[in-house]
Amino acid sequence: MSMTDDLSAGGCIDAWCTRCRLELEHTIVAMVAGTPRRVQCNTCNTQHNFRTKPPEKKRTKPDSLPRKRSSRRKDYGEYLSRLSNLDTASARQYTTEAGFEKGEIVDHPRFGRGIVSSVIQRNKVEIVFRDGPRLLVQNSGAETGNTD
Ligand SMILES: [Zn+2]
Repeated sequence: MSMTDDLSAGGCIDAWCTRCRLELEHTIVAMVAGTPRRVQCNTCNTQHNFRTKPPEKKRTKPDSLPRKRSSRRKDYGEYLSRLSNLDTASARQYTTEAGFEKGEIVDHPRFGRGIVSSVIQRNKVEIVFRDGPRLLVQNSGAETGNTD
């Protein structure tokens, strides 16, 4: 008589023990629809719900992908090198009311000369200065969208 193949209460089955944290032989305590529902660990005698695998634990660190700052800085390298060879005459004075376009040269009262690396939103622009990129406001005074 084979106990192992007979899935019924009192039979034996390999299951994941939530206490031992191992796959161990368990005794079936209760069956539901032909499947073990509750089992008792033959090792620690703990009764628990039947499961064959350890519970998925999502306690791992929140997905904080390592930011590739080095490559990011490399992207700005082009702007930074351009900064040193700028045609200063074409620089526009930065004001929050002004609107800028990608590639424009900007003269900022605090940060100095920079190049617009991207227009994030209509009222937000990224400008690369000598010490790195900064997000700055643009078109702050424009309510209607008629900036010109
Ligand atoms: Zn156990």
